[in-house]
Amino acid sequence: MKCKKCSKTAVIRLIQHNTAFCAEHFIEYFEKCIQRTITEYSMIQKDDRVLVAVSGGKDSMTLWYVLNKLGYKTSGLLIDTGIGELKSNVISDFAVKMSRELMIVDVKEYLSGLTTPEVAKLIRRPTCSVCGLIRRYLMNKVAYENGYDLLVTGHNLDDEVSFLLGNLLNWNLEYLQRQAPFMPKTHKRIVAKAKPLVWLTEKEIYVYAMLNEIPFESERCPFSKDASSLRYKSLLNRLEIDQPGTKLRFYKQFQRLSLFQRDAILLNECVTCGYPTTTDKCSFCRMRERIENAMGEQAN
Ligand SMILES: [Zn+2]
Ligand SMILES: [Zn+2]
Repeated sequence: MKCKKCSKTAVIRLIQHNTAFCAEHFIEYFEKCIQRTITEYSMIQKDDRVLVAVSGGKDSMTLWYVLNKLGYKTSGLLIDTGIGELKSNVISDFAVKMSRELMIVDVKEYLSGLTTPEVAKLIRRPTCSVCGLIRRYLMNKVAYENGYDLLVTGHNLDDEVSFLLGNLLNWNLEYLQRQAPFMPKTHKRIVAKAKPLVWLTEKEIYVYAMLNEIPFESERCPFSKDASSLRYKSLLNRLEIDQPGTKLRFYKQFQRLSLFQRDAILLNECVTCGYPTTTDKCSFCRMRERIENAMGEQAN
């Protein structure tokens, strides 16, 4: 297998694009793909302060590395949910190496001293949905309160097509309308959000991370092993083997539909915290109330 650009030995074959690249040309292709996505969706303006949500996994670490290499002004945000052992050393060493700031937020400070799994158990909700709610709320809050223009996450093509399939199977229109690569600011307390890796697969990100010696943790969240998103991923991987390019086509055609609702939703401000919500109290504050009630019951 030879590189389509220079005929050196290829390190990766991209069957969905009917091509193969050597290390040098794969790195070039990968970075251009991210820059093209940023430009196409007008994700980042010159001088924007960008907050990168980092977990220590390959996607977020690679995203942070590439944005830096492309010259964007970035800082990292690590949310310590209390799940597993916190790999903050790997991330903070990486931040030092890139000369970038890293903020670490401990969820316990916002949840009466409890970790995410403890909250889920106490209020009897699935850990993954509690974790998602907490992370979304805190990422936006931290980005807004620290004056960032944009919050970026490392969602890749495999994540996006798996969400898409799940949202379609359940006809979850509200989620489908928000599953865009870029969501602009629609309220003064909502920070714009972008996913610059949406056109890259897990395999491409993994190979790029290895070639550039980007440190990352390959451990999967212990709560995600039964998550339906993993079943959708394995189903889509099988489809991709039979019909290469399925994932790209599926996501591309969805983008063309432009179902996205950017400003049509009328937002109120939460009576407790002031952050936008579609009801009178946001789901984060409602969850905090349930925690306090459950703790009160336990104490009695
Ligand atoms: Zn080459
Ligand atoms: Zn609230």
